[in-house]
Amino acid sequence: MAGLFDPVSIKVQSITVLGSTGSIGLSTLDVIRRHPDRYRAFALCAHSQVDKLYEQCLEFQPSFAVLRDAKLAAQLAERFVAVGLKTEVRHGIEALVELSSLSEVDAVMAAIVGAAGLEPTLAAAKAGKKIMLANKEVLVMAGELFMRAVREHGATLLPVDSEHNAIFQSLPGDFSRGLNQCGVQKILLTASGGPFRNTPLVDLAGVTPEQACAHPNWVMGRKISVDSATMMNKGLEVIEAHWLFNAPPEMIQVVVHPQSVIHSAVQYVDGSVLAQMGNPDMRTPIAFSMAWPERIAAGVEPLDLFKIAHLDFVAPDFERFRCLQLAYDVLREGGTAPAILNAANEVAVAAFLDGHLPFLGIAKLDEAVLQALPAGPEGSLADVLAADSEARRIAGKMVQERCFA
Ligand code: NAD
Ligand code: MG
Repeated sequence: MAGLFDPVSIKVQSITVLGSTGSIGLSTLDVIRRHPDRYRAFALCAHSQVDKLYEQCLEFQPSFAVLRDAKLAAQLAERFVAVGLKTEVRHGIEALVELSSLSEVDAVMAAIVGAAGLEPTLAAAKAGKKIMLANKEVLVMAGELFMRAVREHGATLLPVDSEHNAIFQSLPGDFSRGLNQCGVQKILLTASGGPFRNTPLVDLAGVTPEQACAHPNWVMGRKISVDSATMMNKGLEVIEAHWLFNAPPEMIQVVVHPQSVIHSAVQYVDGSVLAQMGNPDMRTPIAFSMAWPERIAAGVEPLDLFKIAHLDFVAPDFERFRCLQLAYDVLREGGTAPAILNAANEVAVAAFLDGHLPFLGIAKLDEAVLQALPAGPEGSLADVLAADSEARRIAGKMVQERCFA
């Protein structure tokens, strides 16, 4: 009889990896590498890291490789011809959209950073794919549109963000009938507090990009690392949790937990709190989302509770972490307000990383853009993209005029 772990019963899943050269992309490929009998990289997509993508294609031999611009794509194609690799090279957003929705694709790992991931991930939802969602900005920008597309087209949405993956694991399987109906009282969204949790406020003014990117527990891309330092990442995750679990903002409680061992928890009316624990390694939620409802090995060290010995929890400081408050504010405001905050923040973080904005300028710039640009309804994708580009324009101008330098 064919059982859950009988290899004969397993069909190899073809996966499009959006953002294969990034931190989540690399961890995804590592899980694929461990299970060649279950998964195949169908398309590998990156921005401009030609050498990295070339190496990945040599190893995984995907059907397609995608880069952002035509020139780099042509260079990559030439290198493939030289070594006789059959991988077809494409470029641009249209290619990402197509390769996220083709009938040959079983699942899409959405791991592009920022707003650039929105259109291909939305296309995957409209094609009814299984979506493993790391790219939280999709839900921040267009949560209503995206969740509607998932429902209407029967897509399967599995959260990869470690907190949301933990919440998903701690909720009953039928949570979509409503959290109240399931006896849920609160979602406890844990946060490490980042590298500056205890730094004296006066010292924050001079923080460098290297200091901001040195996260105490996780190794991540630079954008999300800076967001963790300002706690904007947690703010974006509050919005992400709202859409994924249909949870009102007052039901989502941020809990600072510096060890990053409890990845989040759910508190029930009977007094139970269910949590998911593990070492801080993204391969756990990635492998979970790839194999769900089964479990597969992820190459992650087992958790050693004796070594950890104790876990700490403190309330977040909304004054120190102004960005966290801004995220709650835009979630309550609704419409395009979260998309505006997200766009302003992407510009602010890029300016900080380039040395054009001080660390404390990030929250100030975010807030100034929110004040300058009133939110509208999140009607269509065009509305969201228009709000996004207007917010970027205003934010860019503020950076250029050195408003918060
Ligand atoms: P990263 O910067 O390491 O990688 C980003 C990837 O996206 C790269 O492969 C890059 O080439 C690609 N990319 C960027 N812009 C693109 C564009 N315009 N077109 C095509 N490809 C593009 O980022 P990351 O840390 O891997 O994060 C990816 C996403 O996952 C983010 O949304 C982040 O918030 C989320 N996430 C990351 C982690 C983590 O541990 N790294 C944890 C939870 C959630
Ligand atoms: Mg997270």
